[in-house]
Formats: sequence, structure tokens, C-alpha cells
Amino acid sequence: MSINTKKLSSPKVGVVSLGCPKALVDSERIMTQLRSEGYQFTDTHQNADVVIVNTCGFLDSAKEESLASIGQAMKDNGRVIVTGCMGAEPEQITAKYPNILAVTGPHQYEQVVEAVHDAVPPAHDPFVDLVPEGGLKLTPRHYAYLKISEGCNNRCTFCIIPHLRGDLVSRPIHHVMFEAEKLVNAGVKELLVISQDTSAYGIDTKYAEYPWKGARRKTKFLDLCEALGDLGVWVRLHYVYPYPHVDEVIPLMAEGKILPYLDIPFQHASPKVLKAMRRPGNQEKTLERIKAWRDICPDLTLRSTFIVGFPGETEEDFEELLEWMQEAQIDRAGAFKYENVEGAPSRELDGHVPEEVKQERYERFMEIQRQISEDKLQAKIGQTISVMIDETDGEGGADARSMGDAPEIDGKVLLRDAQGVKAGDVVKVTVEDADDYDLYACLSSDT
Ligand code: SF4
Repeated sequence: MSINTKKLSSPKVGVVSLGCPKALVDSERIMTQLRSEGYQFTDTHQNADVVIVNTCGFLDSAKEESLASIGQAMKDNGRVIVTGCMGAEPEQITAKYPNILAVTGPHQYEQVVEAVHDAVPPAHDPFVDLVPEGGLKLTPRHYAYLKISEGCNNRCTFCIIPHLRGDLVSRPIHHVMFEAEKLVNAGVKELLVISQDTSAYGIDTKYAEYPWKGARRKTKFLDLCEALGDLGVWVRLHYVYPYPHVDEVIPLMAEGKILPYLDIPFQHASPKVLKAMRRPGNQEKTLERIKAWRDICPDLTLRSTFIVGFPGETEEDFEELLEWMQEAQIDRAGAFKYENVEGAPSRELDGHVPEEVKQERYERFMEIQRQISEDKLQAKIGQTISVMIDETDGEGGADARSMGDAPEIDGKVLLRDAQGVKAGDVVKVTVEDADDYDLYACLSSDT
């Protein structure tokens, strides 16, 4: 039998990955394992021997999307395995789709792989391609998400993630660093650190120490940032809460060891609303702390998310948020209109805000944010900055990102006349123009 015939007989798996970057990393792990066993992947349900749907259950709208994706896979194929956040409550799925082959919860990679084995055993093929050193990635090759922990010890009233994913479980620091180094060796130029609560990293392990590169390193936020900073690639921190020890990593940003970028989901500014949300971290003096951070690291970019129309939020609370935004000058912000998620304790709170008021507040918030962003980007015109190339169009144009832009969620730097650059290159550019969220630039003569 020829090699090709053997490859054609390899079982094929369809994968639908829904939800946040954490779920994406779970899908990548499952796919990496399956590929190493000889499975192939297909984009169409009809061609698959079995379909895995990795679900998101964060909001009711996400659950509906997950159920719709399961329904589509059942209709097109009929052999479906469900995993991810919605899998933590299997009865919601099996009630609607009793013929599902298996339902597993979030980060149960082994059970998913076992379910695939049961559905369609791996074909023995000694000629199966080697898995790339960094595993299979759903992100472009030059950047990768690095998941440092699962679960969360907080109990924010609007969130059901701890219920779905359990309490915080941090990966030992040497495991995280081993994976990070492997990714860098495989060509990754930017690591995006993710978790539910990045600054709480290691608390559950009592900051257990392990050897890494001839030194003892603690399973701890600062140690992790220092070790990642030694890898020589861009390191971006997501989902950081403003605990006091976050101050310790700002000097690493000022020194250029890790990117001067913090993604902190502040969610609100009114102490009353924050209390009702039961948000973690010291939210009392955030304006002073932001100022102190910017004094140490003037290039710091802050990204955040906010909820408008939380139960009990008055016009006064909302105006407090807008004033805070003006003072804090958060560089990048997204807002969500409060959603009354099934199972979230905030459902029981008094003072639910009518939808039209939420919409009106959302629009006012986004207009303030647009103005802040526009002003900040206008101020960059004429500056020379470093960017990472994401994509080229083959005609000299390229999409790039500055150190202040995370992929997918922030703005872009759009380059002209950038012949010769390729994805993953870091080059110097001169900013020529700006709109509300993007910059326009050309290669700098220093490049
Ligand atoms: S910190 Fe709050 S919002 Fe974030 S995952 Fe934990 S409970 Fe949910």
C-alpha cells in the first residue's frame, strides 16, 4: 500500500472551536494530540468521521451559539463529541441532543481524545507527518497563546466561569516555561499570556519553586514574567487584576523585558457597583496606581473591558465611570451591556437596568472611548515605533501591530511600501496618519 493510500485512510476529525482564547488553546491541545496519533482534520462536517465541538458557556448568547453549532454538526454528520465550558452541565446538551457520542467538561483533553478513539480508532500509519515542534496552532505561526492556569478563585457576581471551570489550578512554572521555550524554538515571536486571573498565578500552589535554567523559580506572577522576559520575544499579559503585586512587573516593562501592555478588566469605576460585582483586587486607588505605573513606564498601554447597565447602576454611577475613563485615559476599552446570565448571582440583584438605558449608556461610553483613542493615536503621528508584521498583501501593503496592540482585539498599524517584510518580523515604522483605532505608517529609514 502506498504512503498516500495510507494517508487517505487516516480517520478525519472536524473541529469547531467556539469562545475565548482559553478555549482555543484547549482545542489546539486536543488537535495536537490527535495529529500525533495520525488523525487528520477536515473543514467540512460531511467529510469527517467524527466532529468535536468545543463550546463556550460564558453568556446565554454564547450557549445558544454553542447549541446551534452542535445542532449543525448533528445534522451534517451525526457523530459528535462535545467539550468545553458547556460540557460542565451535560444535561443541557443531552436533553436537546440525546444521541451525542460524549460530553466532557473544560480542559478534559484526555477524555476528549479517548472519546475520539472510541468513535473512530486511530489508523496505524508509520508515515504519519511529524507534529510541528510547537504543536498545532489555530493562531498564525508567529504568535501563540500561553495558558498558565485554569479556573478562578474569585466569585464575581456576573460570572459563571468558576462554576464551569472550578477553582484556580496553576501550571507549575517549569511546565509553562518548557512550553513557552518550545513555542519560541518553533518560530513564535509573540507569547500572549492568558488565564482567568493571570496575576493570581501560583497562589493555589503556595508559589511552589522549581528549577529552570539553573535557577530556582517560583510559580508566581513576577517570576514568570522575568523568565518569559528572558526568551527574547514579545510577551503580552492578559487578564491581569490590579492586585498590589502587579506594581512589581511595571519595571520589567520599562526595561523592555516584557511588552508595556496590561489587559486589566476593570469592569467599572463606581465603588458601589464594583462591590455589587464582587470584583477582585484593590480597586480603590486605581487612578493613583495607573499614574504611578505611567510614571515608571510612560509607554504603557492599558486595555480594559467594562460592563454598562449592571443591576443597581444609577445614572450617577455611570457618570462616575465616564469621569474615571476621562481621568484614567484607558488606551483601549471595550464595553458590554450587562447580560442576565443563567446561574449568575447578579440575576438576583435589585435594580435591573432597562435595555434601552443600557444601550444609551453603551453608546455614551463608546463615544468617550473613541475620543480617547483618537486623541492618543493622533499624538503618535510623526513618531517612529516598532511593529510586528502580521500579514502581507503581496503588493507592498502589510498589516502590523505596535507593542500596544494585541491581535484580534486592538487596532492595527497599516503599512504602505513595505516590500520585503514577512509575518513575524519586527520593524521600525514612521507613523504618517491615524484614525479612531488604527495607525497608518511606512518603513522608517532606521529599519
Ligand atoms: S475573575 Fe471574576 S469574571 Fe474573571 S473568571 Fe474569575 S469570577 Fe469570572
